[in-house]
Amino acid sequence: MIYTKAPKPVFPAEAASLEYAALLDAADPLRGFRDQFIIPSKANLATKKLAKPGLSSEPSIYFCGNSLGIQPKAVSKYMEAQLDTWSSIGVCGHFTDLEDSPLKQWQLLAEQAAASMARVVGAAPEEVAAMGTLTGNLHLLLASFYKPTGTRRKILMDWKAFPSDHYAIESHIAWHGLDAKENMVLIGPDEGQYEISTEKILSYIDKHAEDGALLLLPGIQYYTGQLFDIPQITKYAKARNLVVGWDLAHAYGNVELNMHDWNVDFAAWCTYKYGNAGPGAMGGLFVHERHGKVDYSAGEDSPKFRHRLTGWYGGDRSVRFKMDNNFKPIPGAGGFQLSNPSVIDLTCLCAALSVFDQTSMTNLRQKSIKLTAYLEHLLLKDTTKETCLFEIITPSDPHARGAQLSILLKPGLLHTVSDRLQNAGIICDKREPGVVRVAPTPLYNTFSEVFKFVEVFKGALSSL
Ligand SMILES: *Cc1c(COP(=O)(O)O)cnc(C)c1O
Repeated sequence: MIYTKAPKPVFPAEAASLEYAALLDAADPLRGFRDQFIIPSKANLATKKLAKPGLSSEPSIYFCGNSLGIQPKAVSKYMEAQLDTWSSIGVCGHFTDLEDSPLKQWQLLAEQAAASMARVVGAAPEEVAAMGTLTGNLHLLLASFYKPTGTRRKILMDWKAFPSDHYAIESHIAWHGLDAKENMVLIGPDEGQYEISTEKILSYIDKHAEDGALLLLPGIQYYTGQLFDIPQITKYAKARNLVVGWDLAHAYGNVELNMHDWNVDFAAWCTYKYGNAGPGAMGGLFVHERHGKVDYSAGEDSPKFRHRLTGWYGGDRSVRFKMDNNFKPIPGAGGFQLSNPSVIDLTCLCAALSVFDQTSMTNLRQKSIKLTAYLEHLLLKDTTKETCLFEIITPSDPHARGAQLSILLKPGLLHTVSDRLQNAGIICDKREPGVVRVAPTPLYNTFSEVFKFVEVFKGALSSL
């Protein structure tokens, strides 16, 4: 079990000072990781120029890792090695491991990435594939896992799913010739609430134990930042014969996951949020071991395997280049691959993963829980005029959230507050009509940054 269930951190009275924040930073065992990233500078953000020597390099406060992680220094090193491989040996790069490259031959690069991602999501390497993009992968997984039958047709999902997930589900139901509205079961919170209780989700599962085909939820809800109880919900739904999938977009690289042991059927994620692999980077998917088996008992040329949409890169490497049009999938998630993957994309992904390879999600999560609790503590400390102007809609239980806090402002304040943050060189993300999402991430953010953020944020509110 890798799931950390430590008590919620408490902070002493003197915690609300920059000195105290600096002490927390000095005691942080992960503080060295910040140096492995390039932090956008205030000057570059203000002048809208590329980084150039001579410009002040005072770093911004970057709290937007929930949307796009910043660039690991390893990316340019890995990219250079890749470009050199291509220019030095051309097509031979497919099958040649170069001594001085941090990257494997192109044919094995997707596996290199999958092995590292498997550590991040808690799976066996064979259960993970590095491929495609999140929405594309959701479509592929739904094609394999959503099999509506006479009575079991409904998909249970988040009432305010990320639009792409909503569209993907809607279009799959329609693809089967079914009515989307009738077959999408939207699970939402109680009236006036933001958090969806586990009991509520379980009650929906009970209610649809006969007509539900599949449950697809976000590991972390992108707007509220709520982390769902993945193991409990999965267990409950599987006991009622629902297929269970998770969208890990905001959970990947953020919280501890254990996809294999939690018995999840399938999952997909993007890698550009907490994964830091770059805008639109290659995504990943998980298919539980039991669904990836290839059975040759009916003969070498008649493999039996779970139905999926196929392509030649899902074919076993031993027969991939035989060109005999007899599909023999790679056992595991690799058998869901379609195309010869973009090596440039894989290079960025492998570079970003090389940072995760140096630590563990347990270590990252330990810091993250403290960092976010510190943010919450400073925000809510003492009831003042300022604290009456906002509400944190993210659960206060650290085990029901990841790095992000979503701060809902009173109507009409969003633009003023976000302008003030921007002018102070603080990058976080705003969502209309009134939410600021603040995500201090354990790999590159500090307690001192959290302190400075709260100072500017409250300063903005007190000036109103
Ligand atoms: C970020 C995010 C996406 C983005 O999908 P892409 O296919 O990578 O563009 C989809 N779903 C959720 C829940 C997200 O948070």
